Amino acid sequence: MILLTGGTGFIGSHTALALAQAGLPCVLLDNLSNSPESTLEGLARISGQAPVFERGDVRDAALLDTLFKRHPIRAVVHGAALKAVGEGLAQPALYHDNNVGGSITLIRAMERAGVRRLVFSSSSTVYGNPALAQLPETAPLAPLNPEARSKVMVEQLLHDVAASHPDWRIFSLRCFNPVGAHPSGLLGEAPRGQTLNLLTVMAQAAAGQRPPLSIFGNDYPTPDGTGVRDYIHVMDLARGHLAALQQVLQTGPAPDTRHWVINLGRGQGLSVLQLLQAFEQHTGHRVPHQWAPRREGDAASWVADVTQARQHLGWQAELGPAQMCVDAWRWQSRLLGE
Ligand code: UDP
Repeated sequence: MILLTGGTGFIGSHTALALAQAGLPCVLLDNLSNSPESTLEGLARISGQAPVFERGDVRDAALLDTLFKRHPIRAVVHGAALKAVGEGLAQPALYHDNNVGGSITLIRAMERAGVRRLVFSSSSTVYGNPALAQLPETAPLAPLNPEARSKVMVEQLLHDVAASHPDWRIFSLRCFNPVGAHPSGLLGEAPRGQTLNLLTVMAQAAAGQRPPLSIFGNDYPTPDGTGVRDYIHVMDLARGHLAALQQVLQTGPAPDTRHWVINLGRGQGLSVLQLLQAFEQHTGHRVPHQWAPRREGDAASWVADVTQARQHLGWQAELGPAQMCVDAWRWQSRLLGE
């Protein structure tokens, strides 16, 4: 059994499916602070069986002890975290309590249970406003806000933890920009708040569910002036988590390094305008849009160097912009139809 914290979140729920399909059943832990319980129905309809779900907070040490006693947990995939940049700026203590405090509570519970195999969902935000066209894992870390800083802090914490005991095997996966949805249309991004990825915003604007898309900035030093990101299909990210999990589950003598930090991206950037064109081309729906000033704290360009993922995980992204757009649109259309 695998404990998946943040199990009903965007990345967590898709990861649960990838793990189950690989014969690794999960216990999903989530406090439902930013994802709806209906995610569980989507998971059940896709996989044909109800997921094992525990509603609770990763900061609840007693609950974690109970879970480790109740289930034969071999490893943890840790995705429970708050991720809204603006909210983090307004409530830094809340963010650090959840993201850093939650990770500390989890690690201590893992140590009590003798479970020392962990995959942590980190984020490309650790790089801040990067100067490099493609970011290797060795690029300087320059987090711009509390949310990003909490990811850096947890990675550093995990570095110390891995060094403390020979049984630890830990991956920190720096996820670039997750988009898309499960191809069934039964699972996708469903946050309670307003933090939506660009493709979800486009799909909602195309569906007339929200005002036209505001394109934040047209004077960035990028080929067409709009921001460039390394968008990655959430199903690819889920497979990336699975690949890391399979590695930490391996037995054998303790390696010298026990904490690996890996970028999960496609290694290819798309600008806002390029993604918009891809959406219109592949879904056949127009995205009403307007120009808006730059959004505070946004970087011009963020693209992964994915060499390490290929070499260490034997993983690479397979799905391109067409699949991202079609799946994001199918998910939004289904939400609209309900
Ligand atoms: N973006 C935009 N309009 C929106 C949302 C996002 O122009 O309504 C741009 C944003 O400036 C950035 C890119 O789309 O260049 C990706 O934004 P998102 O919030 O999805 O991810 P992040 O900024 O965290 O990389």
